Amino acid sequence: MAKYKLEYLWLDGYTPVANLRGKTKVADFDEFPTLDQIPEWGFDGSSTQQAEGGDSDCMLKPVAVYPDASRSGNAAIIMCEVMLPDGTPHPSNTRAGIPDDADAWFGFEQEYFLFQDGRPVGWPGAGYPDPQGEYYCGVGNDAVGDVARQIVEEHLDLCLAAGINHEGINAEVAKGQWEFQIFGKGSANCADQMWVARYLLQRCAEQYGVNVEYHCKPFTGDWNGSGMHCNFSTERMREEGGEPYFKSLMDAFEKFREEHIAVYGPDNHLRLTGLHETQSIDMFSWGIADRGASIRVPHAFANNDWKGYLEDRRPNSQGDPYAIAGRVLQTLQSVS
Ligand code: ADP
Ligand code: MN
Ligand code: MN
Ligand code: MN
Repeated sequence: MAKYKLEYLWLDGYTPVANLRGKTKVADFDEFPTLDQIPEWGFDGSSTQQAEGGDSDCMLKPVAVYPDASRSGNAAIIMCEVMLPDGTPHPSNTRAGIPDDADAWFGFEQEYFLFQDGRPVGWPGAGYPDPQGEYYCGVGNDAVGDVARQIVEEHLDLCLAAGINHEGINAEVAKGQWEFQIFGKGSANCADQMWVARYLLQRCAEQYGVNVEYHCKPFTGDWNGSGMHCNFSTERMREEGGEPYFKSLMDAFEKFREEHIAVYGPDNHLRLTGLHETQSIDMFSWGIADRGASIRVPHAFANNDWKGYLEDRRPNSQGDPYAIAGRVLQTLQSVS
């Protein structure tokens, strides 16, 4: 037997953006625990906007387990759904409502800023740095600056140690802005990994007195906003495809434009302006290799009899990947 530190993670009841919450349970295991060995737990929902004080118990239902290299010794991160005492999903539980599709694949590209003392890391104390241009995939202190590279590298290592399907990182177009990509198979799998990757990023940045700014447009002016492009495919899209099916999918995405925007993250009108590689928020368009479209169709998709994956470019950096994956699947499943 050995002592394990289990960090139970969940999403609180704040709107429009839920915060990650976590607390540690110490438990004995012979070896690294599997999901079915992790006990359910509970918390005080009156402190997280998930219950009234008089009847405050909420339940934590473990749904995924990851090794946790962000702390010493034996440690695991336990991603949880929040349940009511009667065992039904809490209204804030966006994971519970995702349509089932074990063969759905998702790839999220998370963009974010690192902030210190209310300013992006590497920005001068007052005023602005040089305009955008040399920062994207930049190298050197002037381009990426201060502790940013260190945090980004440590975060990548923590994700890999956790067994997360991390696919890569890059410095983004604005100074102090970064991106990482996560891929997963199954309705909720990629979104689970994304929440844990966000957690590890925030944990890592804490040590440097740095905050992760997920807002989609932290500054006005000629500075790119932050997105979380959602790349998706189903078995039918990958194996059957065809132009008529693709066109029906795009009709459905157009029809449900507002329902998609509703879960694609707050303040998206500030980012989806038609500038800075976006389509305007109240338009819907698709285009081959078009980074100014709502949905970008990769060349490989169009050239392979409309088979493969598509990229919805509208979700933003503050969006909830559970709600986004759920809405995408709902729209895909509405097409016969
Ligand atoms: P870009 O910046 O050019 O849009 P990235 O390389 O940053 O592209 O991201 C591409 C994303 O597409 C990755 O997250 C990857 O996992 C995802 N992806 C690749 N193939 C598929 C697929 N068949 N289904 C779903 N997502 C996919
Ligand atoms: Mn990308
Ligand atoms: Mn990007
Ligand atoms: Mn993209």
